[in-house]
Formats: sequence, C-alpha cells, structure tokens
Amino acid sequence: MDEFFSIHEVKKEKLDIEEIYDLAIIGGGPAGLTAAIYAARFRLKFVLFEKVAIGGQIAVSEWVENYPGFPEGISGADLVNLFKKQAERFGTNIVLTDVRKIEKVDDLFYLETEYGKIRSWTVILATGAEPVKLPVPEEEKFRGRGISYCATCDAAFFKNKTVAVIGGGDTAIHDALTLSKFADKVIVVHRRKELRATKILQEAAFSNPKISFELEYIPAHVLGDKKVEGLEIEHVITKEHKTLKVDGVFVAIGEKPNSDLVKGLVNLDDRGFVITNMKMETSLTGLYAVGDVRNTPLRQVITACGDAAIAAAEVDKYIKNL
Ligand code: NAP
Repeated sequence: MDEFFSIHEVKKEKLDIEEIYDLAIIGGGPAGLTAAIYAARFRLKFVLFEKVAIGGQIAVSEWVENYPGFPEGISGADLVNLFKKQAERFGTNIVLTDVRKIEKVDDLFYLETEYGKIRSWTVILATGAEPVKLPVPEEEKFRGRGISYCATCDAAFFKNKTVAVIGGGDTAIHDALTLSKFADKVIVVHRRKELRATKILQEAAFSNPKISFELEYIPAHVLGDKKVEGLEIEHVITKEHKTLKVDGVFVAIGEKPNSDLVKGLVNLDDRGFVITNMKMETSLTGLYAVGDVRNTPLRQVITACGDAAIAAAEVDKYIKNL
C-alpha cells in the first residue's frame, strides 16, 4: 500500500489554538485512530495528537492474522494505513507533536504542546505501551548493536546467524518464527517450563527445525566487545550458568505502559497501567484511557479498537450533558 509515511509533516495548521475542543485524542495507533473515526461520526470537534508516527506498535508488526476481515492476514503497516485513511476520510485532524502535560481546571483540560495550550472538554489517552528493557547490565551498551526489541525491523540483519529470543509469550514466539526465516538458528530462552504463547504459535515453533529452547533460564549477561557475541544465561533453580554463542538477542519480555503523562492525575495499577471501568473512564472525570495503556486483560488491535469505540461513545454522551 502507498503513502503510509506521507503524513510525517507536522500539520500545525490543523490546530486551532483558539478553539475549545470537545475531545483531544492522544496517540495515533489503532486505538487513537478508531477513537477518531467514531468521534468524527458523532460530529465532535476533536484533534488527534501523535508524537512520532501514526500507527503505534502494530505499524512495525510484520503480519497480523487475527484481525477480522482479512482472511489471509495483513501487514501491520497496511492495516494501520487503512485505519488512517478511514480516519482522514471523516476529517480527522492529526497533529504530529508531543503532548507534554495535561492539567484540568474546573471542567476543562489544558494540554501543553509546542504550539501552546490546547483546551478540550475531554481527553482520550491512547498512548500505548513499549517493550520492557532486558534486565542485564550490558543492555545500554548493546542496544541497537545486537540487542533488539523489534524482530520485524531487524531480522534481516541476522541472515545465516544465530540469535536468542528472550521470553515465552506471543511476541517472543512470533519473533522466533519471524527470525527463523533469516537466521540459521533461533534459541528461545524462557524462564519457565511452559510457554505463555497461544497454542497455535507454540505448535509452529516446536515444529520449526531452526528453533530450539532453553527453558527455565534467564539472561544474566550479554557478552561481546563492540557487538554481541554471546549470551550468558542462568538456570532459575540450580543457578548454573552457561554461555550461548549468539550474534543477536531479541527481547520480548512484556510491555511497559506510556502513562507518565497522567501519573498523579489518574489511578494507575502497580505496573503503571491506567485503571479504567468498562466505559473506559479513569478516576478523573472527562479523561478516558483505551488500548494498551490501560489495565486491559488483552492487548490486541481488536481490543484497542473496541475500547476506543466505547470511549468515543461515552465522550459523546458526556459532551451532550455538559
Ligand atoms: P507477555 O504475554 O506479557 O509475555 C512476556 C513474556 O516474557 C512471558 O513469557 C514472561 O514470562 C516473560 N518475562 C517477563 N519478564 C521477564 C523477565 N524479567 N525475564 C525473563 N522473562 C520475562 O508479553 P507479549 O508476548 O509481548 O504479549 C503482550 C500482549 O500482546 C499479549 O496479550 C499477547 O497475546 C499480545 N500479542 C499477540 C500477538 C499475536 O500474534 N496474536 C503477537 C504479539 C503479542 P512468564 O510467562 O513466566 O510470565
């Protein structure tokens, strides 16, 4: 599909600083874009802020097979491009800038941006989550030099090499399968005997001759001089150490919410995810949270979209009652 990256220019002219918006959406992944589609159809006055690039995490997912409507699957980039086109068709104003601070004074929210303070009656937070860092002392040294958080982005650099994947969830096993298309050998290092990943992914990994497993091991050190040359792992019970000769380490040990913007403003759970009720309301009236940033039981495109539809409908009701 074409023009996925065509909106990288900052559409500052689409921002009306004098306006009091009904809704400000923060985040341009599937959740934010769905909120925009619904908000537009409710004829709300709204704006969507995205700080880096439209699409969120799914934009770098190679292939999405569980989003209904695409029986053969679809690439994450293509899926997000369709979301974006649909949002833009209904007149979504996307402003590529960072929201630095949110304040609520009386009933009105003030969003601090590089273009000044934007006023809005409601906010939908759709800022997503990001990967948890590999807990080894060498993480910073080797990040981008053999330690990667994106198999889709980096797998091709490991053609005919050996790589380790850390984690046992859907992301880890998905990554292992992606990497097996390039690397000669993929070693999954997981801290328990059972994988957390869905059965269909497990079956694919177990039957893939390039993929092997080091179960009940955690990473202790990443070894190497200028680039990754090995991974030292520790057995969780015996504490025995051993070294795997690998050229790359792909990390997939879960996600951390992008909730700093609302820390102190709304209730968060012990991992920092925003607590909402079934209407996506947070503890602060008028502020809603949707998708991966909230304490959802399932972080998927489809659940993010569902959250966003609910939140936009709730915003519409709230605005009518102001
Ligand atoms: P996840 O399900 O939370 O899995 C994280 C994995 O990392 C778990 O196996 C966990 O081990 C392990 N882990 C956590 N902290 C660790 C540490 N400090 N050291 C070593 N290992 C550690 O995360 P995810 O795989 O990123 O998935 C997140 C969500 O996205 C899930 O809801 C998932 O279903 C969804 N997803 C779906 C697809 C798909 O194709 N449908 C693809 C990707 C993600 P334990 O198992 O022992 O806890």
